[in-house]
Amino acid sequence: MTAPSAAHGLLICVSGPSGVGKGTIIREVLRRRPGMAHSISVTTRSPRPGEQHGVDYYFSDRESFRRMLEAGEILEHDIYCDHFYGTPLKPLQQLVAAGTDVLLDITVPGSLAVMENYPDCVTLCLLPPSLTELERRLSKRGTETAEVMQKRLAKAREEVNMASCFQYVVVNDDLAETARQILAIIDAEHCRYARLAGIEETILAR
Ligand code: 5GP
Repeated sequence: MTAPSAAHGLLICVSGPSGVGKGTIIREVLRRRPGMAHSISVTTRSPRPGEQHGVDYYFSDRESFRRMLEAGEILEHDIYCDHFYGTPLKPLQQLVAAGTDVLLDITVPGSLAVMENYPDCVTLCLLPPSLTELERRLSKRGTETAEVMQKRLAKAREEVNMASCFQYVVVNDDLAETARQILAIIDAEHCRYARLAGIEETILAR
């Protein structure tokens, strides 16, 4: 018999500096746990080579983004290196209500805004082993101009300094180990009594 569990899925905010590997880690977590989902954000930045509309992001112009904001269709949004990024509200609500755990790849202020709206969300800060390593990863990606790289690195320092705002911190040194730690956090969160309140009655009634 399967154990009773909370009906709603978890909302898991993953923040951390650009280049730390959030996207790669999220893909690895989803590969290991296919029942989970990734919240697809809306952005006004241009697609990078290989990025697909509706898979990596919903690519939008500023006017459409503004309209979505005004219509209340965005849970939280942020401006990052001159571009807008936002989390569409409805798909997220539907997934969580259906019991699916959802990973959000968002900025630090984005995670703070989600915490305000959903105090029972799980927040996780992904950090690089060092700033030198972060710089190496960013330049290896090779998708940013020197100017954008400098902006992203300056932002990275700020983001690393915000680690204390998060419930969990994972240092992304090794892909497999980082994915394992994140799944362990998610499993532990599902076992918190607050999420299983009333489980005793359910068990005693069987
Ligand atoms: P990138 O341009 O590298 O894909 O993303 C830049 C930053 O925007 C990353 O830190 C990423 O986590 C963040 N981001 C992506 N989508 C969203 C979103 O919907 N909301 C917020 N607040 N940040 C986002």
